[in-house]
Amino acid sequence: MQTIFNTLSRKIEPFKTLEPNKVKMYSCGATVYDYIHIGNARTFTTFDMVYRWLLASGYAVEYARNITDIDDKIIERARENGEPFNVLAERMATAMQIDCARLKMLPPSKEPLATAHIDGMLEIIAMLEQKGLAYRAANGDVYYAVRGFESYGKLSKKSLDDLQAGERVAIDTNKRDPFDFVLWKAAKPNEPQWPSIFGGGRPGWHIECSAMCRSLFGPQLDIHGGGWDLQFPHHENEIAQSEGALGLTAEQPFVGTWMHAAFLNMDAEKMSKSLGNFFTLREVLNKLDAVQSGETVRYFLLRGHYRSEINYTWEILEDARQSLMGFYIALNEVTATSTDKIDWTNPYAQRFQAAMHADFDTPAAFAVLHEMRRELNRTKSPELAGMLKALGGTLGFFQDNPAEFARGAAASGLGEAEIDRLIAERAAAKLAKDFARSDAIRKELDAAGVILEDKSGGVTLWRKK
Ligand code: AMP
Ligand code: ZN
Repeated sequence: MQTIFNTLSRKIEPFKTLEPNKVKMYSCGATVYDYIHIGNARTFTTFDMVYRWLLASGYAVEYARNITDIDDKIIERARENGEPFNVLAERMATAMQIDCARLKMLPPSKEPLATAHIDGMLEIIAMLEQKGLAYRAANGDVYYAVRGFESYGKLSKKSLDDLQAGERVAIDTNKRDPFDFVLWKAAKPNEPQWPSIFGGGRPGWHIECSAMCRSLFGPQLDIHGGGWDLQFPHHENEIAQSEGALGLTAEQPFVGTWMHAAFLNMDAEKMSKSLGNFFTLREVLNKLDAVQSGETVRYFLLRGHYRSEINYTWEILEDARQSLMGFYIALNEVTATSTDKIDWTNPYAQRFQAAMHADFDTPAAFAVLHEMRRELNRTKSPELAGMLKALGGTLGFFQDNPAEFARGAAASGLGEAEIDRLIAERAAAKLAKDFARSDAIRKELDAAGVILEDKSGGVTLWRKK
């Protein structure tokens, strides 16, 4: 039975769906004003892992990850670049999709654009106004009245009174309560705007997700996810909007299971654009071997538990690459039996499944894969290789050709043909007991970053350092 830690209850709960065997899942996606960084990638990869695992478990999953293509940061950056906001947003959205594909993420079933859902947002804002939960301020903005929503704070476990006592919030005379948040921003000169019954303007950020969830899935979802930081205020506000407008209740909530991925840190601090301590995913991928980069970063991101913070360093990434390489080297020596359907009664498969069922315990699942790898190295069993490939495959691993993966993109000065020629010459030298020559070739290859692995039968496998 699948269990998931629900942020709403702060408990690991049995996973229940609205409809049998069907999952409606939404995770907050990127604001496309720049390339995504490796912290964003952690959250996106987490939900790709959840998506893949639920699919592998036999659920029909509808997975939506939105694209925020209108926002202050996009407008600002486009202005700096001297280009229309939508041109920037489209370019960065495409780049994000390419980057995610390099990490072997499956394309979500839906990737809604905020600007394609403005009508849906206005509909919800109008409903909120009718219920007295939204008001038009003197400056032309429309705000959500948080005091009107009784359970405000239930996700982040904050009460408005504690919040007000604890934080010094700037007084904004347009708001009735400092924690009221903007639903619709009145148009400013030279900014994109859409017509509405509230006057020309553009949507606030939080209303986007409420509208996209509703138009894609109806009033209720099974899983809603995002990074840890989105609990407050973003997801709290989504609940206030969706449950407030649609008359949902604790018994029939907007979202059954709230999931949040922990931060990826750098130097013990959350990686973020605003702090400036970030690497774009592209930079990181481009530093690694082109053949190995995507799966290596994916491996680094998923071998830790999604609710534990992880630290990014170059050394940790290199360690992940070596560890992943171990699987490909083991798989390279055996022709794996092809496994279309996993036999879940197999003891390894059972333990792997039990780990994933326990709130997606990927570290425990990887421990099972490592055991299989060690046994495979001993037994060279084609069935075991097939099972290892199939189980890894449920999380997006081990699907490349092992020899090609291990070899990498051969970015050294030596071309592949030259490397193969030197390996053949070394084999001949060894046969002729010319060990000086064979050692010299090994050294030459080593200097070019090529590592040799001698296998039985005189076969030599090579890979990049
Ligand atoms: P943004 O484009 O800033 O709205 O972020 C997109 C997603 O990435 C959100 O779900 C964030 O919570 C998540 N995110 C941002 N920074 C990090 C980080 N350092 N570690 C993990 N997730 C992050
Ligand atoms: Zn969102």
